[in-house]
Amino acid sequence: MTIAALAQEVRGCTACAAHLPHGPRPVIQVSATSRILIIGQAPGSRVHASGVPWDDRSGLRLREWTGLSLQQLHDPALVAIVPMGFCYPGKGTSGDLPPRRECAALWHDRVLSTLPSERLTLLVGTYAQARYLPQTKGWTLAQRVRCHAAFAPLFPLPHPSWRSTLFMRANPWFAAEVPPALRQAVAAWIN
Ligand code: SF4
Repeated sequence: MTIAALAQEVRGCTACAAHLPHGPRPVIQVSATSRILIIGQAPGSRVHASGVPWDDRSGLRLREWTGLSLQQLHDPALVAIVPMGFCYPGKGTSGDLPPRRECAALWHDRVLSTLPSERLTLLVGTYAQARYLPQTKGWTLAQRVRCHAAFAPLFPLPHPSWRSTLFMRANPWFAAEVPPALRQAVAAWIN
């Protein structure tokens, strides 16, 4: 199966529709040449409405951290976007609900196997880190992020939501150390 056909199959998924208060609208961006892979959490309400990944304030901050232009971020030839949950899970009592657990289990191995095997993978938020850095179970987010160089070509990051301002305030080393290293890594893999 081609990667385009697989992406179409994902876009037609309704596997957990009964648990999605706004219905399924899987958001995915992939191509056979994407050498930057971004694994985030799940679309928010704005991305659910537009169908455009990272089309929100979190995406703006992610672009600041990575150095990617808007055009680069949305170019599947360069960047694959494969969240832990492809559909908006709806709101809980303290923000958006977590990505649906069945989604990554159902799709990730198939989707990731169609991407270039040599790639930079940004693990954005703790859900992606729990799946792809299982050896760091029990670590704090700050510990993983500060040790990012040990995990290359995986790159753990906080989720760039409004909460990341609290993370950055509590971890002043982040702004000085992490975005510059991330921009360097992204530029090296894109060129
Ligand atoms: S969240 Fe994932 S498993 Fe659930 S309907 Fe959307 S694509 Fe399918």
